[in-house]
Amino acid sequence: MKLITRFAPSPTGPLHLGHAYSAIISHDMARSAGGKFYLRIEDLDRSRSKKKWENQIFDDLDWLGLSWDGPVIRQSEQLESYQNILIKFKKDLRLFECECTRKDIKNAVSAPHESEKLFGPDGIIYPGTCRKNMFSSKINFDKALRMNIDSSKDKSFCFSELGSRKGNISFTAEEFSKTVGDVVLWRRGYPAYHLACVVDDSAQKITHVVRGLDLFDATKIHTVLNSYLGFEIPLYYHHRLVCDENGKRLAKRHDSKSIQKYRKEGLKASEVRTLLGL
Ligand code: GLU
Repeated sequence: MKLITRFAPSPTGPLHLGHAYSAIISHDMARSAGGKFYLRIEDLDRSRSKKKWENQIFDDLDWLGLSWDGPVIRQSEQLESYQNILIKFKKDLRLFECECTRKDIKNAVSAPHESEKLFGPDGIIYPGTCRKNMFSSKINFDKALRMNIDSSKDKSFCFSELGSRKGNISFTAEEFSKTVGDVVLWRRGYPAYHLACVVDDSAQKITHVVRGLDLFDATKIHTVLNSYLGFEIPLYYHHRLVCDENGKRLAKRHDSKSIQKYRKEGLKASEVRTLLGL
């Protein structure tokens, strides 16, 4: 089996040290195993994704000495493939149209008991208001769509983690319903990140998903989706997060840690690797 990894940035700002860390680990893992390394542009956020940032990503990765195997995939160019998956699996995912606004959801969740969680990796755990809108006929892609997996069955899920929390991570459908809830898969005209991510990881035959620990809980969603859609479950490597001086995870606003800035200062790519402990 060929090892295949990917780097999947969103072109919504400059690449910073955290992105470089992820891209380098993913790239080196593939190259040292004689495998493939793909680049996927996750440009589903229409208002924030910009061509300028996409070009900057290519340029910065190239400067870092990372080469990728083509072609580059852009999520905005393949909306139909995500729709087709939802049409095919609407019954299995128990898809329903959700009309709630954020405010509706907030108002509907009563103060949770101490043992209950209010937030999961997909935001506030959905109180189930629109579950009655389960599909019997055609899907309306102008609406928001959520899945409501069947937690009454004794079903469990598992993924293998090779990174920071090494081991097999298992959880039941019941636990998932309580701690994650009815995940949004479609947002009025566009697929949600979770859906697009698993569809593309499967289409690109990714064997090892390398990304930051901030997405560790999202991997539970991806595992559930992979399992319902009949996709192979890749291996996961969640790496530590690169933080600023105050211990805060780097974000797009951290221009001071952008690769551009290091380039302007005359740093070499090898020095960026050293800075990251690679
Ligand atoms: N597009 C996501 C980001 O830039 C990456 C998601 C992933 O690696 O699965 O944070």
